[in-house]
Amino acid sequence: MIYLDNNTTTQPTAEVVEAMQPYLTDCNFNRPPSSASWPGVHDPDGAALAMMSLSGAEGANCFTFTSGATESNNWVFSETTRGRKPGRIIISAIEHASVSEPAAKLARAGFEVVEIPVNDQGLILLGALRAALYSKPILVSIMTANNETGVVQPIERIGLLVRMISPTTYFHTDATQSIGKLNVNLQSDWEDVDLLSFSAHKFHGPKGIGGLYIRQGIELEAMLLGGEQQRGLSSATMNTPALAGLASAAMEAHYPEIDEITNLRDSFEVNLLKEFPNAIIHSKSAPRLPNTSFFSLPGADAGRIAERLADSGIIVGIGAMCSSGAIRESKTLRAMGVPHHIARSSLQISLSRFSSSTQLDTLLDFLKSKCWERDEL
Ligand code: PMP
Repeated sequence: MIYLDNNTTTQPTAEVVEAMQPYLTDCNFNRPPSSASWPGVHDPDGAALAMMSLSGAEGANCFTFTSGATESNNWVFSETTRGRKPGRIIISAIEHASVSEPAAKLARAGFEVVEIPVNDQGLILLGALRAALYSKPILVSIMTANNETGVVQPIERIGLLVRMISPTTYFHTDATQSIGKLNVNLQSDWEDVDLLSFSAHKFHGPKGIGGLYIRQGIELEAMLLGGEQQRGLSSATMNTPALAGLASAAMEAHYPEIDEITNLRDSFEVNLLKEFPNAIIHSKSAPRLPNTSFFSLPGADAGRIAERLADSGIIVGIGAMCSSGAIRESKTLRAMGVPHHIARSSLQISLSRFSSSTQLDTLLDFLKSKCWERDEL
């Protein structure tokens, strides 16, 4: 199989699988209270230390582990607003549903949710954000990088704006797509980020584990009560195999191969444009994740192409697919003002350390063959 849909999920590496193994066999017991003999790097503290080193966080106790970014995002929305008089919440127009749905729920409860628009490259309009900040919102939640276009928002500048205009506002970023793909430092460039969500399966860790970074000094109530695990911030028996996998993935995620992945993506786009001069590469002039290319082949039916590709063992993303697998116009492209007929011809590839130029050549050969058009006869 040629798997080119790594923004959806990545394959755990052999090291990750190996790190998890003991926690499903010999070490399959709960951590004894304050045991000095516990195996170490792959326990919850080990996972926090690995995340600390990956993100430059100021302390290991800034990390609370959850079932993934969906849970972390929901936690942020429910607990930054609990017990407060309905006030303003700011999100962007291109957030993942695990941010936009909790925001919509708050809107139904009387909160004012302001959606900051994006430009035609998918970057949020900083002027609109600035204006919206003057009414002192409770929470600003802007994703770091978009799952479809890969566009990376200027988190540092956004953080500065929040701090300057509304210092008591919580600033949250859904960094699910960027942890492990971008060099992040929570103590320098991102020092104004209060809360950050991440998920291990996006950087070669296992599914069902992720977390929330909570900056020291930021108060956030627990969402799950009843077990006192993780300093009382998220009660539930710890998923130790998954934590071991997350720790291993975080330790490997210092991406020495990032330049290689960027080169692969860039030469794919050059070759694509050579073969299809009318192809449109979305957000090409914005800062993008190095692994992502989102493009349209005007006139083509992306759903049909993706299906035919899957029949040939090549998995790509499509701009018109929603999470349930149904065909729906891409929310991100709609927010960027991309016309419907272009949006429905959009395919996405997202690469990983397992991607190769041979795989991309095979994809291009397939696209050149236009075999999906012959099927229609
Ligand atoms: N946010 C973004 C930007 C994502 O791409 C995803 C996964 N598609 C999520 C949140 C949800 O992550 P998880 O699968 O860990 O719940």
